[in-house]
Amino acid sequence: MCGIFGIFNHREASNLVYLGLHALQHRGQESAGIVSTDGATMYMRREMGLVSDIFDEEGLQEVKGHAAIGHVRYSTAGSSSLKNAQPFVVEYSKGALAIAHNGNLTNAKIVRDELQNYGSIFQSTMDTEVIVHLIALSHENLTLDRLISALRRIEGSYSLLLLTDKEMIAVRDPYGFRPLVLGKLKDSYAVSSETCAFDLIEADYLREVEPGEVIHISKDGIRSYSPFKKVEPRRCIFEYIYFARPDSQVYGRTVYGVRKAFGRELARERGVEADMVIPIPDSGISAAIGYSQASGIPFEMGLMRNHYIGRTFIEPKESIRHFGVKLKLNADHETVRGKRIVVVDDSIVRATTGRKIITMLRQRGAKEIHFRVTSPPTRFPCFYGIDTPSRSELIASSHEIEEINKYMTSDTLEYLTIDGLKRAIGNGSGSFHYSFCDACFSGDYPLRFPWGMELEQMELFVKR
Ligand code: AMP
Repeated sequence: MCGIFGIFNHREASNLVYLGLHALQHRGQESAGIVSTDGATMYMRREMGLVSDIFDEEGLQEVKGHAAIGHVRYSTAGSSSLKNAQPFVVEYSKGALAIAHNGNLTNAKIVRDELQNYGSIFQSTMDTEVIVHLIALSHENLTLDRLISALRRIEGSYSLLLLTDKEMIAVRDPYGFRPLVLGKLKDSYAVSSETCAFDLIEADYLREVEPGEVIHISKDGIRSYSPFKKVEPRRCIFEYIYFARPDSQVYGRTVYGVRKAFGRELARERGVEADMVIPIPDSGISAAIGYSQASGIPFEMGLMRNHYIGRTFIEPKESIRHFGVKLKLNADHETVRGKRIVVVDDSIVRATTGRKIITMLRQRGAKEIHFRVTSPPTRFPCFYGIDTPSRSELIASSHEIEEINKYMTSDTLEYLTIDGLKRAIGNGSGSFHYSFCDACFSGDYPLRFPWGMELEQMELFVKR
């Protein structure tokens, strides 16, 4: 997870990055940071917390210069602490360099051990730092070539931004697991995890940074390179299901449109007689609208959200997340009393959210509860940057749907099929431009695990 945003050649670079990060806040709420350059010096501000709490006008003025990159973090690798906040900045023999990374490097620990054996000293537990060390050790002359040679040793997912005093470089890994898009604001180029950030700063969305593409931006303009071995890209399907903001265009379609189509497919595949369709806000809203439209069952907001807390799941401590469901949502008595209700959400991980919401709806007098999930059962962990836990914590990896239904205390529980999911993305046509990574549902991991490890070993390895 995590969100990144950068802009080159703008007088108000750090202000625009601040706005970009604000638009990407849903991608991570643990820490945020901006690093800028005026062509001679780099300026940095990184803190734990939300973008709007960290940066004020005065603080932003200190992050000076015509180019800046920023990061909002949700930890998938490395602990939750300020030393792991990004962008990561170092001073090495060739000058200062900053990196903002979204993704997860699957062989980072191996490379890190090797580097430490040779005497490298690491400042953080982030996998991103491995890239920085490899850049510093490279024998190439240009930063661009150093970065490319570093990334040739790296496996896993990375959408990243690199900033030096002279240039900004954007890279997306050959599989294109995580999104990354290119935009333009007058004479400035901007790069973002999602297009919603361009809408806010009124930049034009040009195109995706292609999987395997390296884009170099400097005062001499913009250049594109494809230095890596070509593979069939496997973009993350979960961006559509849960992660991206509904108003973003992801892989060529708006997320809202795709999520509504998920809901329509779900109504077709797993229809049920009911009085109303209600979403679990916010993640289920778009799909619940689609479900309602396709089934003709009225859409209602049966659950109300308190907007003054972050996404509960994102809190790293168990105790907070469990408490969080009640902090975040409440059921409306008048709406749900005596009703047969279809509850729509995007996914089930541990089933704690669903179970608590069903209990709440029953307490408010709901008569029947039919839980509908707009994705297939999440059975496998993600090693490519989404925090899907190991199988021991994923309820669907060890339980049949009927058992989960019993646990959640719903009357019925149904999931969208993988075919339904893909039909919806293809706008009903059954064909779409892209191949996706759906390893969290299928266990079909595009990359072999390091050292030829089996899944069990890999699960233990990433926890190490
Ligand atoms: P759970 O209570 O563990 O079943 O979590 C399910 C809720 O978490 C759903 O409402 C999803 O919207 C949300 N969710 C699913 N996957 C993730 C993820 N990787 N990170 C954060 N939230 C998620």
